[in-house]
Amino acid sequence: MCSTPENGRPCLRCKNCKRLNHWIYPDLHLTVPTYESNQITKNILSEWRIFIEGNDYFNINSWANHLGTTSKPNITKKQCDDILQTYNLKSYEGGKKIFFIWGTELLEKEGNRLLKIIEEPTDDTYFIFIAYNKNQILPTILSRLQQIDIPPASDTEIMDYCSQRELGDSNEIKEAVNLGDGSISEVINILTSKEHLFSEYLLSGLRTAYQGNGLEMMKWVENIQKLNTGQFIQFLQYQLHFFREAIAGHNQRNYIKRLLRSEQKAANWLFNNVRFLEVFRLVEQIDHYIGSMNQNANKKILATNLILDYKKLIKRS
Ligand SMILES: [Zn+2]
Repeated sequence: MCSTPENGRPCLRCKNCKRLNHWIYPDLHLTVPTYESNQITKNILSEWRIFIEGNDYFNINSWANHLGTTSKPNITKKQCDDILQTYNLKSYEGGKKIFFIWGTELLEKEGNRLLKIIEEPTDDTYFIFIAYNKNQILPTILSRLQQIDIPPASDTEIMDYCSQRELGDSNEIKEAVNLGDGSISEVINILTSKEHLFSEYLLSGLRTAYQGNGLEMMKWVENIQKLNTGQFIQFLQYQLHFFREAIAGHNQRNYIKRLLRSEQKAANWLFNNVRFLEVFRLVEQIDHYIGSMNQNANKKILATNLILDYKKLIKRS
């Protein structure tokens, strides 16, 4: 679409390039996940433009955070209809038309309505599908696409990026990288959406439960319930990560744990004082709480359950 390409690459300076860069080129048709059944991308395009401004890396969670929603993301039947309708229109500028679909995994069976146009698009029409996990794409769609795999960034690359942008101190960044599992956008989400380290929350919770002072335990609950829903889920997921690494490290001598030094201390303490089987029970509970949080459970009740679980873990052992 560039009007003055250089060596087959866009110049990034011409009018077309600038418009594309801001997602305002009329023949670039964007489809992104929406969160209400009647919503189509066109309704929230202005929100999208604000969202991507200055955002180098993001994923569908970041988009939900930006919109402040906890609903399930979706690419609905209505969105597919909109793609089909737009497909049948002539291009505004008389050149190429590009359809850009972000979150291909979210196309459920309605996605099959697109098969015909994907398979044999009219001249000068292109479809670009972006996905994070191609195993989750409808096989009928996947088999009609040329696939380009983009490998995850290395831990060092992610750490460099985050420290250059001062997204946290080196411990915070390391913890987020451990949790992010190779996804730079997830690491950024973790660093920008929480005020304190999750490890501090967990360790202070375990310590408080160990001391067994009811008042202090309630203070901990008050603190934890202030996390918003997304952060609360991240805190629960963090605990799964912590226990997984601690258990694996305890069982396999040569296992390299993805834990910070303070977490390693806590893990050592835990296995000196707590029975193995009880840890598994706690992990099961936490897994169950994540499910409840996804169905909008009450944070205060869950936080209370959580610290009582820590207490039980220590007491039973
Ligand atoms: Zn250009």
